[in-house]
Amino acid sequence: MMNGQLQKDLLQLDVLLEATKTQGLEYLNNISDRQTSTKKTINSQMNLPAHGLGALDALGQFNERFEPIIVSTSGPRFWGLVIGGSTPASIVGDWLTTVYDQNSFATKGQGDISAIIELETIRLLLDLFELPQNFLGGFVTGATMSNFSCLAVARQWIGKESGKDFAKEGVSGKINILSATPHSSAVKSLSLLGIGSNNFTKVKPMEGNREAIDIVDLEKKILDFNGKPFILISSGGTVNTVDFDDFEAISELKSKYNFWWHIDAAFGGFAVCSKTHQHLLRGWENADSITIDCHKWLNVPYESAVFFVKEKYKLLQVETFQNSNAPYLGNPLENFSYLNFLPENSRRLKALPVWFSLVAYGKQGYQDIVENSIALANKFGEFIGNNKDFELLAPVRLNTVCFALNGEKSQENVEKFLTILNDTGEVFMTPTVYNGKKGIRAAFVNWRTTEDDVVRVAALMTKIINELK
Ligand SMILES: *Cc1c(COP(=O)(O)O)cnc(C)c1O
Repeated sequence: MMNGQLQKDLLQLDVLLEATKTQGLEYLNNISDRQTSTKKTINSQMNLPAHGLGALDALGQFNERFEPIIVSTSGPRFWGLVIGGSTPASIVGDWLTTVYDQNSFATKGQGDISAIIELETIRLLLDLFELPQNFLGGFVTGATMSNFSCLAVARQWIGKESGKDFAKEGVSGKINILSATPHSSAVKSLSLLGIGSNNFTKVKPMEGNREAIDIVDLEKKILDFNGKPFILISSGGTVNTVDFDDFEAISELKSKYNFWWHIDAAFGGFAVCSKTHQHLLRGWENADSITIDCHKWLNVPYESAVFFVKEKYKLLQVETFQNSNAPYLGNPLENFSYLNFLPENSRRLKALPVWFSLVAYGKQGYQDIVENSIALANKFGEFIGNNKDFELLAPVRLNTVCFALNGEKSQENVEKFLTILNDTGEVFMTPTVYNGKKGIRAAFVNWRTTEDDVVRVAALMTKIINELK
């Protein structure tokens, strides 16, 4: 017999969804006025009710306790980390993902549409990024898992180069890895993969305030390996200063030496959508694997990222991710099923929010979003560069501004300044350290951000810095 509360909720589903819609609109329509930070907190010690409250009263509880302290991380002036928001179409896709509640591992052509949608969405993304269709890809929760998935296949590849099957036998021997400025999540992936986070060789960054890899030092380190295969983790947009490795130079090295080339282009990959910045990615199509985050600059809800791996490595990918002791799942190379191609087995229809947003806004839509973010970063960068109280720590290369305070007590005051700024709740930025200097980062990724937001924040910063004097 169906539980009474469930039965009641089933009968008033329209009331429940209507209340949810009203509440969603309330948040989205007022997102610009909502605080970007709060000092309020709550006691999270609720006991499990013996008899449930029903969904409407649960919503009441949520609204009483949690809703007031939700901050507008998805709003136009949350410039901390690299966050982004949700386009209207992506919200439609996300809501329907929940409503249809499909398990997207299901095999293509067996009554489950999820794999078909996912494969189509991957093709659309390859189009957006102007990448050839010789990559296979899949959706994972974020760029961390995307880096993990790519490097897992790379690990299998390097094992095979010496006749070993690491997926079956476990990792053995030294795995050579090179990188200049890897994202922390790529290093974390090395821990998860049993390679070890200490076990990569750091290549020098280029001279002159750069985070990109020094190609001369790279080739020197390659020669030190004496022809042994290795994995190169390169950057398509570092987080501090959005610096790009030289992918054309790396492509040339790739034709001379035997290595797996991975690019972490979590948000930098979107530079391809801008006519003025797409040259930064020239040559990236020669990589073996690429990480892209969708919940950042594509502006779809968390949790969404893709990984691309060259299709010619399909067998390695299956060896890495197959559920090999579940014969009822069939031969993974014959019956395509996502659960043999990526880390998770059961998962939601992850591709749908991206599919909706790509279909709704197309190439032009994303060109506009990306170029708008770049223009705003430059505008904010000009404010910083022209103001004697601040200094740019690096040129504005794409969508991020990395800066410090100027003057005598600038290093002491930077945290104080940032705390006061963030406590206003009008804008949010994050601290960083660059070249040994304490600084602040502002990243422009949200589709809603406008020039007015930049003007408003500049005025606020001027006021705060003057009060600190
Ligand atoms: C954000 C980011 C990651 C990690 O992504 P998550 O989505 O937080 O897992 C990895 N690499 C780069 C370059 C990033 O910007």
